[in-house]
Amino acid sequence: MTVRIGLVLPDVMGTYGDGGNALVLRQRLRMRGHDAEIVEITLADPVPDSLDIYTLGGAEDSAQRLATRHLQRYPGLQQAAAKGTPVLAICAAIQVLGQWYETSTGERVDGVGMIDVTTAPQEKRAIGEVTTAPAIAGLTAPLTGFENHRGGTKLGGDAAGLARVTRGVGNGVGDGLEGVVQGSVIGTYMHGPALARNPELADLLLCRALGVAELPPLPLPEVEQLRRERLRA
Ligand code: GLN
Repeated sequence: MTVRIGLVLPDVMGTYGDGGNALVLRQRLRMRGHDAEIVEITLADPVPDSLDIYTLGGAEDSAQRLATRHLQRYPGLQQAAAKGTPVLAICAAIQVLGQWYETSTGERVDGVGMIDVTTAPQEKRAIGEVTTAPAIAGLTAPLTGFENHRGGTKLGGDAAGLARVTRGVGNGVGDGLEGVVQGSVIGTYMHGPALARNPELADLLLCRALGVAELPPLPLPEVEQLRRERLRA
């Protein structure tokens, strides 16, 4: 079987190199002997519900709005998540998949409604390294990323935080949390790309995509070196 990785709307939500998350997923699968391919879904395509895992990247406000409309019009992502297919949402994608978000000019936009979060602009843009302690089963290592967002995201009752912030801002609403988890959706403000810096998170998503409890270890000294460097930065 070929594992099919959906890279959702890289034409509008890919400004921060977050497409690298799909590359990391594909490479970690191939290094373990799985066939894997990336399926790019652009604004010209309907969104299929049949892929094995989906990733969405960050974007600026206007691009984010185009993506929101497209995902509302073609609800393949919502259908896939409802079946339990893993979805990784980075930064603006958290906002898009939520109930609503306000742009930096204060305009409220209805989100896709897949996760119970709302986002409003904060006084100060959060920019810089962010480090967190994971708060979900299956993750033990500190998470590291680079954040760059003005939006602050409040979690509703159906959503939980991905991690607790140890450095940086994270969701930015004073609850000390970073990211969001709800059903098969994992969201984080971490760019990096996040999965290049956090192989444990990559493998958690892959385990879910493959329906296995664990994967054989994949020791990559350069990834460990990158982590050490970033966690010290
Ligand atoms: N426009 C959104 C914000 O500033 C998302 C930014 C991003 O994806 N980096 O909150």
